[in-house]
Amino acid sequence: MNSEKKIRIAIQKSGRLYEDSIRVLKECGIDINTGINKLKAEAYNFPMEVLFLRDDDIPQYVQDGVADIGIVGENVLLEKNKDVKIVEHLGFGKCRLSIAVPKGTNYKSISDLKGLKIATTYKTILSKFLKKEKIDAEIHEISGSVEIAPSIGLADAICDLVSSGSTLFMNGLKEVEVILRSEAVLVQSKTLGKSQLQLVEKLMFRLNAVKKSKKNKYILLNAPNKKLNKIISILPGMKSPTVLPLAEKGWSSVHSVVHEDEFWEIIAALKENGAQGILVVPIEKMII
Ligand code: ATP
Ligand code: ZN
Repeated sequence: MNSEKKIRIAIQKSGRLYEDSIRVLKECGIDINTGINKLKAEAYNFPMEVLFLRDDDIPQYVQDGVADIGIVGENVLLEKNKDVKIVEHLGFGKCRLSIAVPKGTNYKSISDLKGLKIATTYKTILSKFLKKEKIDAEIHEISGSVEIAPSIGLADAICDLVSSGSTLFMNGLKEVEVILRSEAVLVQSKTLGKSQLQLVEKLMFRLNAVKKSKKNKYILLNAPNKKLNKIISILPGMKSPTVLPLAEKGWSSVHSVVHEDEFWEIIAALKENGAQGILVVPIEKMII
């Protein structure tokens, strides 16, 4: 267990999760020297040490408490089946684990998988899935280039990660079953001491402030005073909208915060009620 008053985070050394993991830390105000030593780095402005690992090793490091927290895909986490706690879904690294068969296959339902040989690097997840669906199929575990297995006669089907589907298409395959939808998650060791838990809390506070800010926009507009009550009733605001008089008589400036889900409807209603000069500004952090 890491007993210093510092938190140790494991992130992918290079690959699809690397850039976004660094970005998430940066958005939380944590800057890392990613320069010379690519195994370990110190944050400049947060008591944090970063370990750069293969994504496959992250669940084990976090389970054992060698790293206190980590960023890893749910797919890897489930495959490795380690005892760690998911603390946050991070909204990137989105993909699905799917079964695909050669394009020309006459596939109608899941029972068509019976008796097939399926190549995968996700043996644990696939075998659980087949068991649950009561499908008797053969799993052929390989370590990479899964998508070419059917064309070289190694397997009848594959189970692999898909995002756009273009790799499947290029290899003459079609997706027939989605086993799992996955994204990057922040995981936490179950062996954390008090000071590490406090640091995780601090990090979560910052993560949530960033998350909220992304879902909201700051909106400024000019409103004729005689329409002010109606316009204020349309706008939610954190408490209530800010209203300031304009230099031009009979007009006010109204400021508020609007959630992305209702954004376009609110803008339309504001325009209908005489709002002018509507400005929409991104929010960097939002603390309620
Ligand atoms: P490492 O060298 O760390 O073992 P890797 O080759 O296993 O890297 P990457 O291809 O970099 O892994 O993918 C890392 C993670 O990115 C995946 O485990 C998954 O969670 C996510 N991901 C998102 N989209 C895709 C995709 N289309 N294909 C593969 N992984 C994806
Ligand atoms: Zn990997």
